[in-house]
Amino acid sequence: MAIQDAVALTKSLLHYDTVNPPGQEADCARHAAKLLADWGFKVDCHDFEPGRTSVIARAGGNGARAPLCLTGHLDVVPLGTRAWSHDPFAGETDGDRLYGRGSSDMKAGVAAILLAARSFANKLQGTPGVVLVLTASEENGCIGSRHLAALPQLMGTAGAIVVGEPTANHPYVGHKGSLKFHAGFRGVSAHGSMPELGENAIYKAARAVGRLESFDFAQAPHPVMGAATLSVGTIEGGSGVNLVPDAARIGVDIRTLPGMDHAGLLARLRTLMGEDAHIEPFSDLPAVWTAPDAQWMQRVFEICTPFLAAAPQVRTATYMTDAANLRKVYGEVPTVVLGPGEPQMAHQTDEYCSMARIRQSVAIYEAIIGDWCRP
Ligand SMILES: [Zn+2]
Repeated sequence: MAIQDAVALTKSLLHYDTVNPPGQEADCARHAAKLLADWGFKVDCHDFEPGRTSVIARAGGNGARAPLCLTGHLDVVPLGTRAWSHDPFAGETDGDRLYGRGSSDMKAGVAAILLAARSFANKLQGTPGVVLVLTASEENGCIGSRHLAALPQLMGTAGAIVVGEPTANHPYVGHKGSLKFHAGFRGVSAHGSMPELGENAIYKAARAVGRLESFDFAQAPHPVMGAATLSVGTIEGGSGVNLVPDAARIGVDIRTLPGMDHAGLLARLRTLMGEDAHIEPFSDLPAVWTAPDAQWMQRVFEICTPFLAAAPQVRTATYMTDAANLRKVYGEVPTVVLGPGEPQMAHQTDEYCSMARIRQSVAIYEAIIGDWCRP
């Protein structure tokens, strides 16, 4: 396989349609797996469903210190309803901009991770080494990484994590957690002209919504992330205006702070919404946070500084990442979110990435790997 530069490799990843749903990361994953195997990495692939392939690749390892994990997702979000002025899969460029669905979020990050790993492929013997985790299905609730987190034999260990999500090469020290659930309410159906004979499930849901609107987390805002939040995002119920509804359901999106106990929070909400509420959580991801003054984070800040206009400020991402799941298997190891994509371009029409930043991020990742694996 010919040596590719980071922009060319990003383009080759953009050509694979990994729009999720349906995802179908398999071909893109196999392309990355083949490159890594050619460069001397030990590569495993894992399909959580047919066609939904994640790649785990490692090199080096000395048993004394856990490897550095670099991770990125292979899927991208749908194109949206607005027309694109650039082909979302062709890798068109204009000036410094490389256009395409997933250019910023986050095939540029995956390409940079791959090329930085290639630079070290044959130089990691006797060092802690690296483990690369390229995931399927991040965009629909971190499903791929959730499956990987349940496979400790496959995943091994890691001593720190770099998540290549879009940050314009600014190191972010974490992000909020996410707890999402449906709450169902049952009633008794009756003719709409005789509501006294029924039990209205929508009224039950509405009372719960009212209580949720004024829910108090009873926790001070985080100095960097701000306050925990709760939002009721969906409400469904009833089958006709002339029927008393016997079922209703709401969907709730909670964003939590580091250290928040999700099980305890759910117990409080259960009490708040009452016995009628049947709660079904469908996403439970803890917050990710590493103290900015932690030694490794300070090293990452130092490494990034020459590439930024000024020394990095302490910031966190607004979005979730696979790190929330990977820390279930790797423990709460230091974790930085750091990648070449433009954070405001994620999920946008005419998504693009700066090609200069893609090349910078290869150098940043190389420096972070070199620092972790120095003799
Ligand atoms: Zn992403």
